[in-house]
Amino acid sequence: MKKNILYVVVPCYKEEEVLPETSRRLKEKLNHLMEKKKIDRRSRIMFVNDGSTDHTWEMIEKLHEEDPIFSGVNLSRNRGHQNALLAGLTTAVNFADMMISMDADLQDDVNAIDEMVDRYLEGFDVVYGVRSSREKDTFFKRFTAELFYKMMRMMGADIVFNHADYRLMSRRAVEGLQEFTEVNIFLRGIVPQIGYPWCTVEYERAERFAGESKYPLKKMIAFAFDGITSFSIKPIRLITMLGAGISVVSFLFLIWTLVIKIAGYTVQGWSSLMVSIWILGGIQLLCLGVIGEYIGKIYSETKRRPSFIIERVLNDGGNEEEGKFPYQVD
Ligand code: UDP
Ligand code: MG
Repeated sequence: MKKNILYVVVPCYKEEEVLPETSRRLKEKLNHLMEKKKIDRRSRIMFVNDGSTDHTWEMIEKLHEEDPIFSGVNLSRNRGHQNALLAGLTTAVNFADMMISMDADLQDDVNAIDEMVDRYLEGFDVVYGVRSSREKDTFFKRFTAELFYKMMRMMGADIVFNHADYRLMSRRAVEGLQEFTEVNIFLRGIVPQIGYPWCTVEYERAERFAGESKYPLKKMIAFAFDGITSFSIKPIRLITMLGAGISVVSFLFLIWTLVIKIAGYTVQGWSSLMVSIWILGGIQLLCLGVIGEYIGKIYSETKRRPSFIIERVLNDGGNEEEGKFPYQVD
């Protein structure tokens, strides 16, 4: 029989301000789903502490002590949202039939979980949470986010529009994800590549419940850049095309120069010379940078360093034979 154990995986980085509310709402939601017999009583809420420097981990430990519905994974240090998520999913997959990843700050509407679970029960392996509007975002965030999706599409990465990392994945989908052994992880791009039946569920994205965004502009740019360069070699192709284009232009320019020389109007055009030096220098540096970025990726992939190290797991999910589930009814 299908057991439908659900694990909600929540990466947390310095989230002590929102954790009490997030845990309360998630627990309420899971209890509700358990009562409706949609999910198994052994379902859990798994907080992944991404090397927070505040009391996030102590809070997770306390939650776990008070109620085993909460479980926790502590990473050895801060590794970033994507790696924290991956650490949570690869831990949860040992216990769960389906996993939902969501942010700790309650921007992802908890009520979308019902529909995600329904879709899973209908047979979908991946259910993407897609935000219905971005009205609550600042103009800047909205603008940069939309630009990001457009760029990604243009660069050939197959990503779901307006989907952040709020999604349900079945166990076999997460097992598929584990087959992707790359170090430069960008989940939004990888998950569509796993395949299996998928669908989307709309939800309204709220404002951060409390605290500040842990994604300042600097991290956002790094994230976008990583996303593009992990998924496509189009930027390199663009550089090649740019190089070809400039070569053609410079050839025409050469002919023109010769003609002018033969005609006898030589000294002239200091400004055009300066401009072309600067522009060409800039383009060359940019192109070198992009190529360097790819070489950097190759470098970190060949080293095969671990994306995260798990310091501790708090979970009494165990396996069925041990029979130590306080919530078990069947
Ligand atoms: N996060 C994390 N590690 C980090 C940065 C963020 O685990 O280094 C988590 C954070 O706790 C939150 C999620 O990633 O649950 C999304 O972060 P945030 O809400 O700050 O980003 P935004 O919604 O502003 O893009
Ligand atoms: Mg947020």
